Amino acid sequence: MISTIMNATPTMLDHQNTNKRLQDPIWAEVRAQFPILDQQVNGRQLVYLDNAATTQKPKRVIDAISTYYQEYNANIHRGLHSLAERATAAYEDTREAVRAYINAKEAAEVIFTRGTTEGINLVAQAWGRANLNPGDEVLISGMEHHSNIVPWQMICQERGAKLKVIAVTDLGELDMASFYDQITEWTKMVAVVHVSNALGTINPVAEIVQAAKKVGAYTLVDGAQSTAHLEIDVQALDVDFFAFSSHKLYGPTGIGVLYGKRTVLDAMPPYQGGGEMIKEVSFEGTTYNELPYKFEAGTPNIADTVALLEAINFVNELGKPAMHAYEQSLLTYGTEQLNTIDGLRIIGQAANKISVLSFAIDGIHPQDLGILLDTYGIAVRTGHHCTQPLMKRLGLPGTTRASLAIYNTTSEVDLLVTGLRKAVKMLR
Ligand code: PMP
Repeated sequence: MISTIMNATPTMLDHQNTNKRLQDPIWAEVRAQFPILDQQVNGRQLVYLDNAATTQKPKRVIDAISTYYQEYNANIHRGLHSLAERATAAYEDTREAVRAYINAKEAAEVIFTRGTTEGINLVAQAWGRANLNPGDEVLISGMEHHSNIVPWQMICQERGAKLKVIAVTDLGELDMASFYDQITEWTKMVAVVHVSNALGTINPVAEIVQAAKKVGAYTLVDGAQSTAHLEIDVQALDVDFFAFSSHKLYGPTGIGVLYGKRTVLDAMPPYQGGGEMIKEVSFEGTTYNELPYKFEAGTPNIADTVALLEAINFVNELGKPAMHAYEQSLLTYGTEQLNTIDGLRIIGQAANKISVLSFAIDGIHPQDLGILLDTYGIAVRTGHHCTQPLMKRLGLPGTTRASLAIYNTTSEVDLLVTGLRKAVKMLR
């Protein structure tokens, strides 16, 4: 039933249709799967617009965690008893579901991590230490999250390599002339964000990967903000590494994925040493396990991995193209409505963008705005969004960011706009 309505995409940009759809009882069913949304905050109905920070979780994800602990909690891979076998099967089922979700060639290329940050650190440390030498270059962009800047700074410093940065335009797009200027035969890694968390810009990652391959560079795409919204096909993209976090994909916190091409992962040394990642240990030396276990030292986060399967099923059942179309209609509506507020400027006006409404209002500090909106029950994020170099480039201390997910509605956008009008009156 849900997929029927979600597949109705044709006139999504028409507000009348959007409003009609949002009132549909079947639509209400999608939203009703998120128990947290049905609550009052500061005496008002919660309006949750901080989805780029983390999405809320459908009940099936919450239930999966509790079922795991109530019915089959056991350590995986090494146990022969029934609970261990059930837990191992569930853990590996998620790996297979992730493989299909991003169209990896094989499940062994899916490594479970704590999240995007750990995935990028794994690559910077394990791949970087083995592959970067003095004079080599790592190319990132001016709109990276700190988690795709600092790990590269650290390893470049250690290895004597140089970190270079693709410029960002005033509209908040990558300056592709700057990219082509800076990619050279010395470039060993190009690591870019797929979708900017601060601006919503969708970057041309396929073009970037192709150009990187021409100079023999490796590639990493930070998929933290794209994986819940866009179709991901790592084989078509031909990228070496792709990192994302479950918690921005309607799944639990504390679990994420690093995809890596088998050839590249096989050639890399392990990231951490310990149990699970070994074949045989003696005091004379150790042989390492097969992929993906070589990169999964220690007891992993089994409960949250098992629950991630439910998040993936949730998205798959709704269908990504329909979700994307719906979210785009909300974005268009939100952009139009925000533009009616006096002195408000949308930050990030890329031709290709999703789900993020970042803005600045003349004479008002984002933090004051955020605090006031919270008193109306509206949750937005304010500040630099872990992209300080980008804020510096744009000449802003930070922005106010409303970020959208599949359960948001035009009525919530209206409440945001009403709240902003009130706030502007009070704060100016
Ligand atoms: N990259 C981007 C673009 C992000 O938005 C985030 C989270 N805000 C991260 C990386 C880091 O993700 P995590 O904190 O889940 O590791």
